Amino acid sequence: MPTITFQGQQYECAADEPLLEALNRQGTKLPYGCRAGSCQACMLKATRGTPPAAAQIGIEQKLKDRNYFLSCLCRADTDMEVALPDPADRYHASIVFEKEFLNASVIRLRSSRPEGFVYQPGQFVNLLKPDLGLARSYSLASSCSDNFLEFHIRLIPDGRMSGWIADTVENGAFIFVSDAMGNCCYRKDYNDYPLLLAGTGTGLAPLYGILRDALGSGHRQHIQLLHGGLNSEGLYYQQQLRQLEQQHDCFDYKPCVLNGEAPAGGVQGAIDAQLQQSLKSGQNWRVFLCGDSDIVNTMRKVCLAHDIDQSEIHTDAFG
Ligand SMILES: Cc1cc2nc3c(=O)[nH]c(=O)nc-3n(C[C@H](O)[C@H](O)[C@H](O)COP(=O)(O)OP(=O)(O)OC[C@H]3O[C@@H](n4cnc5c(N)ncnc54)[C@H](O)[C@@H]3O)c2cc1C
Repeated sequence: MPTITFQGQQYECAADEPLLEALNRQGTKLPYGCRAGSCQACMLKATRGTPPAAAQIGIEQKLKDRNYFLSCLCRADTDMEVALPDPADRYHASIVFEKEFLNASVIRLRSSRPEGFVYQPGQFVNLLKPDLGLARSYSLASSCSDNFLEFHIRLIPDGRMSGWIADTVENGAFIFVSDAMGNCCYRKDYNDYPLLLAGTGTGLAPLYGILRDALGSGHRQHIQLLHGGLNSEGLYYQQQLRQLEQQHDCFDYKPCVLNGEAPAGGVQGAIDAQLQQSLKSGQNWRVFLCGDSDIVNTMRKVCLAHDIDQSEIHTDAFG
């Protein structure tokens, strides 16, 4: 049974037990997000011993070279000493200059774009709260032509990161942003295909980035955006999206509300029901689904049932 040393204490890993689970079971508070190797919030550095190759999948080379690995994927086969990531290796400092509630529970945070920070709209980053070692993933709503980063953060009751952002982070505060990850992004070769973008709540954040990227790249075919909310108060950015609709003939925006009256031009009902209608109205869709994981999974099944090839379905699921 391999022994793992962390902050001077020793921990045992049971057979086939991921290192993250083993250490947190024994009382550590290692940060984590998806626990499935995609969000990279649980990244650690091996300061002694070599992490298994399977725990380095998806990590950029410069971090692999410094022995970083994902603790949720790490089934240790030898003794190791591990440490929390050095913020200077993984995170860029960014200064908040705007914080605004877009509705009762969604905060828009805008912060400076760190020098050398490269991303594609639709990707996500991890935000770090260094004093607690807490990391959470948030999707980028900004587009590369913006000289700032934009996030849409839903305030979760008792949520540690979203609560900290709502209550404590103010203009002038530093936040720490990881490199961008994920591949739910517009591609130039999609120029000749219609795009269907669908998401609920803050799932609009990556969709807004993807939409502006497509429009800015001169997308020629139809783009439809479905944004779902429990009711019309749950929607946001209606004015911005209506404005884009007026500026671009190819774009149409359809808000969908589950309860109560839909805003003008919108529909009442579940977003997956509207997605079915939209899929039927055209062909060769390239699809982007973002937001709550269960809803993304439901919508993904709808797309597969309509014979959309899975390579043409891009998802950013807030797992
Ligand atoms: C790839 C990715 C991209 C993401 N992008 C965004 C984004 O752009 N905007 C955004 O607002 N969020 C996004 N999320 C979700 C975000 O990372 C956090 O999970 C969320 O903000 C809650 O963190 P917290 O620390 O505030 O809550 P925690 O302290 O982790 O949780 C507090 C309580 O709330 C529950 N909880 C956690 N998340 C949710 C939820 N989504 N709905 C209901 N209950 C919940 C927990 O089970 C717990 O009981 C994304 C997640 C992933 C994996």
